[in-house]
Amino acid sequence: MVDIFKEVRERLNMEDVARHYGHKPNRAGFIRCPFHQGDRTASLKLYPGGRGWHCFGCNQGGSVIDFVALDLGLSPLDAVKRLNMDFALGLPIDRRQTPAERREAEQAAQRRREVADTYRAFDQWRTDTINKLNACFREAHLLQISSLDRLTEREALALPKPSRASKVKQSAPTWLASCWGAARQS
Ligand SMILES: [Zn+2]
Repeated sequence: MVDIFKEVRERLNMEDVARHYGHKPNRAGFIRCPFHQGDRTASLKLYPGGRGWHCFGCNQGGSVIDFVALDLGLSPLDAVKRLNMDFALGLPIDRRQTPAERREAEQAAQRRREVADTYRAFDQWRTDTINKLNACFREAHLLQISSLDRLTEREALALPKPSRASKVKQSAPTWLASCWGAARQS
């Protein structure tokens, strides 16, 4: 048995639906609210990914189905039927699902799971990469410090000594960097 309400919520994009019924989302995904009077500032936000909508003016909100039901004056079930027809979703309403439709629905669900898994894997990879890079920076930093510690007496004497004036002018990191440059050349 398919949950047709869930299918409709997951398969339709809130912005596409609003556009289809004559609303004009701005770049931030807001429209003028059709459910309260005089909304000149576009207070109704359309959310991506099946998260529906919310009006910051009249505080109403809900799913894509609630939007169409309110907008067209339909019951939730009639809104589902209307969306099923207008967006050619092929959902079995008022009849049994055919085997082909069931396969199609299962494949669509599988694709959604794969997309979600891919996103999670990418997120994990990004976190791992950032952690590895941070570890590299830490190691490079430690290596630099320990190399300075391991200078021979001659190498240490060869380092440019900051004069009183340059001590004032140069910040510590700049002086360290010039020392490091001299140490590497010698
Ligand atoms: Zn409103």
